[in-house]
Amino acid sequence: MNTKKIWLSSPHMGGNEEKYINEAFELNWIAPVGGNLNQFEEALVKYTACGHALALNSGTAALHLGLILLDVQPGDYVICQSMTFCASANPVKYLGGIPVFVDSETDTWNMCPEALERAIQACMDGSIAEKFPEIKGQIQIFAKKPKAIVPVHLYGMPAKMKEIMDIAKKYDIPVLEDAAEAVGSEYHGQKCGTFGEIGVFSFNGNKIITTSGGGALLSQNKSHIDRAKFLATQAKENTLHYEHKEIGFNYRLSNVLAGIGRGQMEVLPERIQQRRKIHNFYWEALGGIEGITFLKEPEGHFSNRWLTCVLVDPEKTGGVGWNDIIQHLAEDQIEARPLWKPMHVQESFAGAPYYGGDIAEKLFDQGLCLPSGSNMTGEDLERVVMRLKDCLEVKEGLRKAV
Ligand SMILES: *Cc1c(COP(=O)(O)O)cnc(C)c1O
Repeated sequence: MNTKKIWLSSPHMGGNEEKYINEAFELNWIAPVGGNLNQFEEALVKYTACGHALALNSGTAALHLGLILLDVQPGDYVICQSMTFCASANPVKYLGGIPVFVDSETDTWNMCPEALERAIQACMDGSIAEKFPEIKGQIQIFAKKPKAIVPVHLYGMPAKMKEIMDIAKKYDIPVLEDAAEAVGSEYHGQKCGTFGEIGVFSFNGNKIITTSGGGALLSQNKSHIDRAKFLATQAKENTLHYEHKEIGFNYRLSNVLAGIGRGQMEVLPERIQQRRKIHNFYWEALGGIEGITFLKEPEGHFSNRWLTCVLVDPEKTGGVGWNDIIQHLAEDQIEARPLWKPMHVQESFAGAPYYGGDIAEKLFDQGLCLPSGSNMTGEDLERVVMRLKDCLEVKEGLRKAV
């Protein structure tokens, strides 16, 4: 069988990446320092108006450093979105902190502002320890303010940032914005990643643009970025010899990979248009099918549509769920995936506090990510839709009006 494999989201080079990589070779800047890094960071700052940016070797590293900048210490509470990729919350554990998970709302699938406020209050009045006794073994003082709030813009859809920022201001808690999946997404005209005190991007291989592996830390506050740069380069003091007063990390992006990032930044607007077009294609082809629901952009929310995700309700599809669809697509070399499994039901976070209802779990029960790579052809898209309809046994005549 030589059917072409259709990936969920594969790297899509713009054309100039190799030129910039070659520049690094010609100048012998193969190290985690050099012109590509500066250019890549400048491009990020210019594109997002974030003030200052630091290129790192992963989004996870950026989140880790972000939490350190916000002074997360062992035993500190950090409010996290449950519905996310584990990398949003794992760095809290690296620091010995206690992630307090919050449910999603149905408009954006991101952090529910009401559940967020309840979680903050439970931390501050200490009632969190009565509800989740497992944390009693980890800390002595239960009643304290969370050190940070980490909202996520899942699949590129901006979270309800006005409500979240209002709550953050009300309680004076800094926001570390996980915009790993939302490079180029906007909320009321402002780029995601620039709302919180610190923002994080990922350039992992499957993201909307990639450096094969990489990430960035964004902040209006230059001292945050300077400190992050220091910590990301082993906390080496500015002396001739190797002097260290603190424990640092090796988290800087390589100048070679920054060359890829430089090229990718040139095509980012085009990539967003392509992903949005793919979303529209799916919506037109599948939006009218009973039991298939798309995530709409609420007023003021502009999604980069990194992945097009739908909810599949087996009660309305005649028993077909995402499991069946993923298997059916895989038989034709098409990759699809379920949504992220919420963190509060993961074994790795067993016993962690959770505030909210069952929205995140319901999304996981029904959510399906469709192949959304910007390099997909019209033919690829037709193939996915045909297979999907075949699985759902949709006959053209039976489609309900869109
Ligand atoms: C990809 C991703 C990360 C981690 O980024 P890496 O570059 O893979 O380390 C963090 N949070 C979310 C929501 C992500 O999707």
